[in-house]
Amino acid sequence: MKVVFSELYKTHNPPFFHHVENSDRLEKALSSLHDVEIVEPSSPANPEEIHDRDYVELVRRFSAREEPLDQDTYTNKYTYEVARLALGGAMKAYQVQGIALVRPPGHHAGKYGRAMGAPTQGFCIFNNIAYVANKIREKIAIVDFDVHHGNGTQELFYSDPRVLHIDIHQDPTTLYPGTGFPFQVGEREGAGYKLNFVLPPGAGDDTIEELIPVVQSILDQFNPDVLAFSAGFDAFEGDGLASIRLSEFSFELLGSLGKGRKWFATLEGGYNVGIERGLPAFIRGLELNLTYPKPNVSDDSVMSRFMDELKQTKLYLNQFWRL
Ligand SMILES: [Zn+2]
Repeated sequence: MKVVFSELYKTHNPPFFHHVENSDRLEKALSSLHDVEIVEPSSPANPEEIHDRDYVELVRRFSAREEPLDQDTYTNKYTYEVARLALGGAMKAYQVQGIALVRPPGHHAGKYGRAMGAPTQGFCIFNNIAYVANKIREKIAIVDFDVHHGNGTQELFYSDPRVLHIDIHQDPTTLYPGTGFPFQVGEREGAGYKLNFVLPPGAGDDTIEELIPVVQSILDQFNPDVLAFSAGFDAFEGDGLASIRLSEFSFELLGSLGKGRKWFATLEGGYNVGIERGLPAFIRGLELNLTYPKPNVSDDSVMSRFMDELKQTKLYLNQFWRL
């Protein structure tokens, strides 16, 4: 397994205070992995290929002064350059079929920073996966399984049918950024190419087990040239920022979606146990080295709510896909 990593990714750190999105995450990630080949990122990329010029300039200025972009999203003097190198890391992951262990994360960053009316940028500076999706011009499917909605990615490609974006996340009425409802399907030619699947708080692995064949079916119908994972591990039970209860079981299944496809992945969230246990399980799935761990089962009330909502979502999406 190839892992794109640079020591420079550890230099973006909160300047004056503690923050969950810090360089310890990469230490946790690296110590959880065995038998990986470390690959250096491609050179820093130009964020203006996906973000507005004024936003890029704002990041450069705030980074020089070590000022936060908002109450969630800090910068330090390295942030601007490191965020550009994270774009290069995602590109390298695409080139070598690997996982980009990059920071800062990207999926909440839209064209102008905050996306789809979100209150903050949720720790994200430049959108790593969107940079690659935009650059390659191939038909691409992005599966985002971070527990938060990938609102930046969705906004950037909202009217683009070349980019299929399937996002699985906790119910947005209960969690940042407050978007990612099943009826948000894209617009104009992009309508039907943005799919949001919602997990109720308390959801266990049995919800992901139900979703995998649905996602697989959509991927088969779309038939992408490349499958990209916005790989967040904060839906792991006890990771700390949300109320979803996934275990290794789900991350193995999600990784196995790469079977028979050209794929790459970029790191989004995941702060504690999710990084330590979810990330290696995801890699086992990608390598089809499945160990079939015991699933976390949802409470009956959670599962029945999930199944009701999934039924409604599928009915709605039937105007675009055979589900
Ligand atoms: Zn997240």
